[in-house]
Amino acid sequence: MARNVLVTGASRGIGRAIALALARQGFDLALNYRSDDEAAGKALALVEAAGARARLVRFDVSERAAALAALEDDMKAHGPYWGVVCNAGLHADAPFPTLKAEAWDQVLKVNLDGFYNVLKPVVMPMVRAHQGGRIVTVSSFSGVVGNRGQVNYSAAKAGLIGATKALAQELAKREITVNSVAPGLIDTEMIEGAPIEEILKRIPMRRLGKPDEIGAVVAFLFSEGAAYITGQVLQVNGGLS
Ligand code: NDP
Repeated sequence: MARNVLVTGASRGIGRAIALALARQGFDLALNYRSDDEAAGKALALVEAAGARARLVRFDVSERAAALAALEDDMKAHGPYWGVVCNAGLHADAPFPTLKAEAWDQVLKVNLDGFYNVLKPVVMPMVRAHQGGRIVTVSSFSGVVGNRGQVNYSAAKAGLIGATKALAQELAKREITVNSVAPGLIDTEMIEGAPIEEILKRIPMRRLGKPDEIGAVVAFLFSEGAAYITGQVLQVNGGLS
């Protein structure tokens, strides 16, 4: 039986590319998204065309009760996950003096609370399955260095990195690895409106990353060859430092 993997925020952008890369490796996939049924349907078709068995699991990662209910239903039908990719995320940028309380709360709830809301219900079933496993979080260069205009997002992603490293310590003896991939600037809908030309000057490779370049790294972390890598942050950013 193929191994069962959950990818959050899988309807477009980086999450869809991760799902596609894992589909090509033969995993069964649960594709989470929040709101866009049409985009999710297209992502499902893409992943199925790559040969994977897949299904859509709709819930908002920031809604604890809804996440728990949806994940319990999915595990009841398909068994525990062997792997989870916590990718769903968003930003709401503003210089700190004008950063609204709602923007602080929302960004923390989706990017950081989402880690707890998604992983808490699924980790013990993973452990009880005694099959080892993989957990990957998608953080950000902003969480590694701190980025102006993104105090909320940098805080959430830095918190996510801390949570990833701590959980790696707890799950290591179960052969469940927990790592984070920290992208730089990747060409998705999320960066629409960003001052791309200005930012490119700071990127040594002078180009944006492609979603598939994050998918490939996550697929590596899910491979047998990566079984001894845990508690790490892999930066994928064209040389930003
Ligand atoms: P996109 O905005 O292109 O896609 C976001 C995906 O997440 C969509 O599938 C969306 O589904 C889903 N999503 C958003 N909020 C929620 C939620 N509350 N619950 C469930 N699903 C949700 O973003 P990217 O692909 O660019 O980003 C993916 C991850 O990578 C994020 O964590 C982001 O912070 C991180 N990242 C991105 C970078 C970039 O340059 N693009 C750089 C560094 C990190 P729906 O449309 O249905 O809401």
